[in-house]
Amino acid sequence: MTDKALLVSEPRKILHIDMDCFYAAIEMRDQPELANQPIAVGGQANSRGVLATANYLARESGVHSAMPSAKAKALCPNLIILPPRMDVYRDVSNQIRDIFLQYTHLVEFLSLDEAFLDVSASSLFSGSATLLAYRIKNDIYRKTKLKASAGVSYNKTLAKIASDWNKPDGLFTVRPDEAESFLAELPVNILSGIGKVAKEKLNKADIFICKDLVERPLTELKPLLGKWAEKAQLRAKGIDNRQVSPKRETKSVSIEETFSTDLKGSELVEKISEMRFRLESRLKKKVGVGLKVKSIFIKLKFSDFSQTTAQRPCQTIDQSVLEALLLVACARSSKKIRLLGIGAYIDNENVNKRQQLEIKL
Ligand SMILES: [Mg+2]
Repeated sequence: MTDKALLVSEPRKILHIDMDCFYAAIEMRDQPELANQPIAVGGQANSRGVLATANYLARESGVHSAMPSAKAKALCPNLIILPPRMDVYRDVSNQIRDIFLQYTHLVEFLSLDEAFLDVSASSLFSGSATLLAYRIKNDIYRKTKLKASAGVSYNKTLAKIASDWNKPDGLFTVRPDEAESFLAELPVNILSGIGKVAKEKLNKADIFICKDLVERPLTELKPLLGKWAEKAQLRAKGIDNRQVSPKRETKSVSIEETFSTDLKGSELVEKISEMRFRLESRLKKKVGVGLKVKSIFIKLKFSDFSQTTAQRPCQTIDQSVLEALLLVACARSSKKIRLLGIGAYIDNENVNKRQQLEIKL
């Protein structure tokens, strides 16, 4: 076997590093008197705001990110909700990026506080990705006084699951020979790509854990998961060849919801205002401040599974524009609606320029 062939056949070494309740942790670091209080970062309860993140003390009361602030306050009356300081969070994110780049140039950020690193080429610690992950966690703590959790494995799916395994301040490794048995007993929705709706469908067909997904013939999975069936099955077996791609760009950010019963267009107006806040919080998390929304869109899937989208240039996530788009889209079919999505296209050029600038500095 040539060296090159050997390299190709060797498993990759992928890390997923995820900061622990990032925004809240920064606030606790900067205001130590908050450290023993339930805190969250997000919009205020009286302005229909949603939470971007909450610390672990708040989570004990059932508070979680993307929850409306008013609901969070009801669950946890002592909750202190702080306004986001995106500039500070972005600065910390840049410090973390600099640390990652010392070890590999293959860094793919998923949001300000979460990234995949391909460290296959690193020879540090005799090639031990686990020790390298430990080093990176320490570097982050020394530089920022913040804790991160790390997952170590040979692909993105497993590294991501592993980083969540011992959170907070976790470090967990899934080795190639133990991957399939590690996944076997885990619930199917642990795989990225299997959300609430897909999970329900699978559960109805008696598919609960990854092992079930592996054992079912594809012909039975296809009606449930569509063209995603094959990929889902491979991932449940621990196979995921997606590359860590540093050039990943956020072109659009969207959220969608499938309804348990199909709805009429007029019933969606309220849904839109609810989803709009979630979209705004996701936009902030994905691209931070300084982002430029170019246009916003609505996606509908009707009861007969046909779908349509409507889009309009707009610089904010504007409720009245979304409602107008809803009207336009609804008029295209007489059927009821089973899925509503709303989203925004981002001015890519701006995001790229900023990223380049950050790397140069
Ligand atoms: Mg995080």
